[in-house]
Amino acid sequence: MTADTCIFCRIVAGDLPCHRVFEDQHTLVFMDIFPVADGHALVITKQHAATICEADEEALTAVAATARRVAHAIRTVLAPDGLMVFQLNGAAAMQTVLHYHMHLLPRREGEPLALHTRVPGDPARLAEVAAQLAAALR
Ligand code: AMP
Ligand code: ZN
Repeated sequence: MTADTCIFCRIVAGDLPCHRVFEDQHTLVFMDIFPVADGHALVITKQHAATICEADEEALTAVAATARRVAHAIRTVLAPDGLMVFQLNGAAAMQTVLHYHMHLLPRREGEPLALHTRVPGDPARLAEVAAQLAAALR
């Protein structure tokens, strides 16, 4: 997959829409359109890199810092019982979009866990949470 055909590169370029939460020089954060839980967000590198091995250190460091900021916002806005942070590399690890990204998945006690779903999120709710998280960032 090249940067021309990559769905996340197209989001970075503004060719495809997203429910944007935050962006800086190296990272972009938006809501997962097939959320496994309310508030499921993705932190991606702006530069195309398929996996952790291709991404450069500066970008990965930036992802970690951005993830921490958004984690605080998730705690403020959604007050989940926990927050799962995960990142998949390669088909065997169930990576489905071959552009490096980190999942921020709010967790509620007793809620069943899945890494993916085919059920799209309610666009109005995705937009609402994106705006709330953006406003809560510090
Ligand atoms: P992974 O399986 O770790 O590669 O995760 C890819 C994630 O991207 C999945 O949770 C998908 O629901 C999500 N996803 C796919 N396309 C889009 C999109 N256009 N906007 C937002 N999230 C997406
Ligand atoms: Zn890409």
